[in-house]
Amino acid sequence: MRCTRDSLFITSIVVLTVALAACGGGGSSPSNHLSPIEPVQPPALTGTPDQNADALIAVMTTDEKIQLVHGTGYTGGPEPRGAAGYVPGIAHLKIPELYLADGSVGVGNGVGQATALPSSIASAASWDLNEAYKYGQVIGAESKALGMNVNLGGNINLIGREPRCGRTFETAGEDPVLAGRIKSQHIKAIQDQNVIAGIKHFALNDQETSRFTADVVIDERGARESDLLAFEIGVKDSGVQSVMCSYNLIGGIYSCENSHLLTDILKNEWGFQGFVMSDWGGTHSSVKAATAGLDQEQPDTGYFEGTNAEGLKQAIQNGHMQSAVLDNMVHRILRAMFTVGAYQHPTQVTSIDAATDAAIAQEMEEQGAVLLKNASGQLPLSKALKSIAVIGSHADIAVLSGGGSAQVIPVGGPAISTPAPCPPCWGNVVWDPSSPLQAIQAKVPSAAVKFDDGTSTTSAAALAAAADAAIVFVSQWESEGMDLPDLSFSNNQDALVAAVAAANPHTIVVIESGGAQVMPWLANVGAVLEAWYPGQRGGEAIANLLFGDVNPSGKLPITFPASVNDLPHPAISAPPANSTAPFPVAYNEGFLVGYKYYDAKSITPLFPFGFGLSYTTFTLTNTQLALGPAANGSFTVSIDVNNTGSVAGAEVAQVYLSLPASTGEPPKRLVGWQKVSVQPGQTQTVTVDVDALSSAHPLSYWDSTTGGWQIANGDYEVYVGNSSGNVTPVGVVHVGP
Ligand code: BGC
Repeated sequence: MRCTRDSLFITSIVVLTVALAACGGGGSSPSNHLSPIEPVQPPALTGTPDQNADALIAVMTTDEKIQLVHGTGYTGGPEPRGAAGYVPGIAHLKIPELYLADGSVGVGNGVGQATALPSSIASAASWDLNEAYKYGQVIGAESKALGMNVNLGGNINLIGREPRCGRTFETAGEDPVLAGRIKSQHIKAIQDQNVIAGIKHFALNDQETSRFTADVVIDERGARESDLLAFEIGVKDSGVQSVMCSYNLIGGIYSCENSHLLTDILKNEWGFQGFVMSDWGGTHSSVKAATAGLDQEQPDTGYFEGTNAEGLKQAIQNGHMQSAVLDNMVHRILRAMFTVGAYQHPTQVTSIDAATDAAIAQEMEEQGAVLLKNASGQLPLSKALKSIAVIGSHADIAVLSGGGSAQVIPVGGPAISTPAPCPPCWGNVVWDPSSPLQAIQAKVPSAAVKFDDGTSTTSAAALAAAADAAIVFVSQWESEGMDLPDLSFSNNQDALVAAVAAANPHTIVVIESGGAQVMPWLANVGAVLEAWYPGQRGGEAIANLLFGDVNPSGKLPITFPASVNDLPHPAISAPPANSTAPFPVAYNEGFLVGYKYYDAKSITPLFPFGFGLSYTTFTLTNTQLALGPAANGSFTVSIDVNNTGSVAGAEVAQVYLSLPASTGEPPKRLVGWQKVSVQPGQTQTVTVDVDALSSAHPLSYWDSTTGGWQIANGDYEVYVGNSSGNVTPVGVVHVGP
């Protein structure tokens, strides 16, 4: 008898036992139940990723297929590498093992030391697609060097909907087009390193409070034009090979078993070719989830493995699920491996290029920090200053990082690491080893640069009063597993800034935060630099920015509201006390997220989306609007960016569009931008192409009646500006007769 691979599973348990025995098997130890009795040679794999996946599936046993559709937990496999997840390989078919590691801001979750990049939101704040690619390159190259071939970064949740969300730092801000395009660059760069990239958490996972039971209520149009649009752009533009479905429910159905989300929208409508994995522990069923479109259970919660009566293997044997469903799941996973080269390049632990990657981390921070205020040119600081007070936030030795699974262990180890507060009640508060104090001192070697830790406002104010300038570092830690109670700085830091500002009229505030903050002291300070979590070369980057060796050019990817009372949800939705049942989170604002909400409600924010100052000045002139050849509403705007100041700098020319009133859309939406460096006194002409048929649907609204995107007839007003709060109408695109 020849033991063909599928003969082991075809009919009943009795046949299975006989077949195993006849083949000399029958044991169920992990080694022989997962390996063939008579190993099949790998087929010739010279075709397309689809053909190669099919060729392998044709010779795989059901057990081998089952093995690929679930992880084995946090253990990291036979060679522990600190991974968040592991899927054993199939040696005789040369199918490599998968090591899965987090990585929205560097390779995270304890996989050895890696470059702690500035927050992902800083990458978005650069508005620079080339920089975003470099950011992804670091994550991809370091994932590979640390032996990881699946990256679980790509957090694109549209957290501007809930700026108190503890994962804001992992995201790319509130606008679906900016976020989608920035994350696409991260993803492309990661996959160019033979690492399967991911995008998550699909979908509408916009708060951490009770994230396992939050049941999002939103209409289809609201979802399509906000969170889902960011994913649509990210999926279509990047070729991402994995999507992680989220913990929350949508309309009463868990995301990871939501067929409308996973199959109708993601796979069928958007043409997603890769595989869907669950968030960790986010699988709630076997057949229901698999047939809804979940391809891989992570880590191993017992649904897909098939050790129980509900498992996928039993479901196939008893006819509750067609084997074609399993084949498609496996096909997607294998195809992803071939597409990015993970099959061709099995994992290998080497070493990271720490020096090169640190330089990129610094450059990213220099491009992504946002200068929010600069009264009377208080910045850049003069190198002739004789004394500087540096105050607060451990600025003598460290810069803050965000917590949770995205936490990176920085190269050289943390400067400070203390157990996290409750919530989230797990993980650590980690400060990266980069000293703003030393970097500032290096700019002014002969000045007296002194540090006060800021715990006493009196002592800090005394140091500030005696100095030529005071630089106060304020910080707000956030993490997965928690939301901030509000947008105010904790630990009495507002009082600290107020005291220092009262003591020294030359007070500069540097903010280390995951996202938006309110600033009651704003009117009293000279300058404010939003540094985000600046990464392990943050101190050096901040010093370069403060002293003008680098001219700030970042722009906010998220609105800073004046008060939490201005948010769509003044209070975060939470379940009744002691309840573990799903509870509704009503996103009544629908697509009115971020600046679209503030515009629609005529609320003036503290700082608008797209805002950021420079040490030079720019004008945007000579705007030319040209219709595209296709006569479908596509257009091009060309803009002269003039540097009217005295130093070189970079400006982001932003193009917004307002749709005809008949569509009921918010006053304007971002449809394109171009960042350009310009020498003083010079002009650079930039062009922004707006393709009506692109994944961003720039002219379209979601028509719930027809269930599709529509472009309405009418006038589309085009605006150009340097923030959503400072735009000028430059012309009209007419669609229709
Ligand atoms: C997080 C994911 C993460 C996973 C693995 C989950 O708790 O929500 O973002 O990728 O853990 O670490």
